Amino acid sequence: MAANTWEYGWQWRAACRGEDTKLFFPPNRFEPKEERLHREHRAKAICATCPVRVECLEYAVRTREPHGVWGGLNELERRLLLRERERRADPGLHSVG
Ligand code: SF4
Repeated sequence: MAANTWEYGWQWRAACRGEDTKLFFPPNRFEPKEERLHREHRAKAICATCPVRVECLEYAVRTREPHGVWGGLNELERRLLLRERERRADPGLHSVG
């Protein structure tokens, strides 16, 4: 997680504290798919052991965090989660026709 977003106490219990942030965020260059999958797999393995996974995920979803693995989900997975929540909150929102 990005150090400049530490606004709540849950971050102090994060399993990723002291881990290489490069696992959780993409590099500033093109990242081949296989490399991304490997990196995210390693990050998600850490998230799976994290005692504040729910808090982390909710923070990232609420703030529309655009990059990285948060709460065990990458940016695309968080967007899908958000879309699903919005659809459930307003079933007519994404209906066709
Ligand atoms: S869920 Fe993952 S990214 Fe979030 S605090 Fe825990 S280890 Fe870090």
